[in-house]
Amino acid sequence: PTEGSPLTPVATVSRYACQRRTTLENHNKKFTDAFEVLAESYEFNNMEGPCLAFRRATSVLKSLPWAVRCLGATQDLPCLGQHTKKVIEEVLQCGRSFEVEKLLSDERYQTFKLFTSVFGVGPKTAEKWFCRGLRSFSDILTDHSIHLNRMQQSGFLHHGDISRAVSAAEARSLRSVIDGAVHCVTPAATVALTGGFHRGKEFGHDVDFIVTTPELGEEESLLPNVIDELKEQGILLYCNYQASTFDMRKLPNHHFEAMDHFAKCFLILRLESSQVEGGLHCAEGDIRGWRAVRVDLVSPPVDRYPFALLGWTGSRQFERDLRRFARVERGMLLDNHALYDKKKKEFLAASTEKDIFAHLGLEYMEPWQRNA
Ligand code: ATP
Ligand code: MN
Ligand code: MN
Repeated sequence: PTEGSPLTPVATVSRYACQRRTTLENHNKKFTDAFEVLAESYEFNNMEGPCLAFRRATSVLKSLPWAVRCLGATQDLPCLGQHTKKVIEEVLQCGRSFEVEKLLSDERYQTFKLFTSVFGVGPKTAEKWFCRGLRSFSDILTDHSIHLNRMQQSGFLHHGDISRAVSAAEARSLRSVIDGAVHCVTPAATVALTGGFHRGKEFGHDVDFIVTTPELGEEESLLPNVIDELKEQGILLYCNYQASTFDMRKLPNHHFEAMDHFAKCFLILRLESSQVEGGLHCAEGDIRGWRAVRVDLVSPPVDRYPFALLGWTGSRQFERDLRRFARVERGMLLDNHALYDKKKKEFLAASTEKDIFAHLGLEYMEPWQRNA
């Protein structure tokens, strides 16, 4: 049959996000927004299976270049189970899902959502506080039996600013701040934007950078020196530095949720309004003249750079599926450090992201196509 004739099979949608080009253009937002609430709620209740099922379904719908207009249209799509289809049907018929509406007004869901919006507070801590009967920030801050760690203290202190989205203009300004600090301490070092902004997002919850040195081993002192420099500039509001625990003798850990072993730091920086084209995205900050922003820096040894870049560019769902694809379909182990072939019992070398896609037998995808 000629192209476009009714006999041409519609290209099948892959079960793996790493085989679906997913841009930021989401034609199915009303469904994926509903799924995201359900996934979150399952996450809050420690139900990993259903949580992942809704995240996968979200990712499949995000990849479609068309909007779902009837349930029949989802027939040949992967990763959509009974529950997801019921939600789609409800949204199609009523414009909303009652299950989602019930969750949105549920006290447990609302409280977890509020508590986990604080930097340093995950579902476990939220659960502990909820079970103690705490429901608001003032409940927590006035309860003297609650111990807040340093990260959570900063999280509360800067909550107003860091719960507001970071704009692309703010990310660009932070890039010159980081560039300046890095080159001041190590002129030969390189800085690359990664995370959501590298995928072309207009807004993010933080800004992520990979910094490294052309000389292997020189990266070891890089982050501590950059942190000192930011401190000297008077813009370091919070810093959690984790030294490298990287060991090349270990096999890659395909469990995505495990953190990588590179030296990294989770920061809160002070960003001056005058340094941002068109001003700050945060109105209160604009009046004050500055705002607090979350910044992540990771510094892999230069020979691990392509793996680190691939791992930190995300999205999270893209990364999960990349690892699952490597293991299930190729018998390989992939993480942020390396790619290991289990049959050949050897590590596969790469000097670019493209090399890694090629080893996996995957078509290369640009960062802006990884918004799974
Ligand atoms: P957002 O706009 O919300 O920041 P994002 O995609 O940039 O979206 P991040 O949470 O900043 O999300 O994470 C960016 C990438 O970095 C993710 O793909 C994730 O895999 C990776 N990442 C984040 N934290 C760690 C960590 N501690 N160890 C390893 N990888 C991490
Ligand atoms: Mn990010
Ligand atoms: Mn981040």
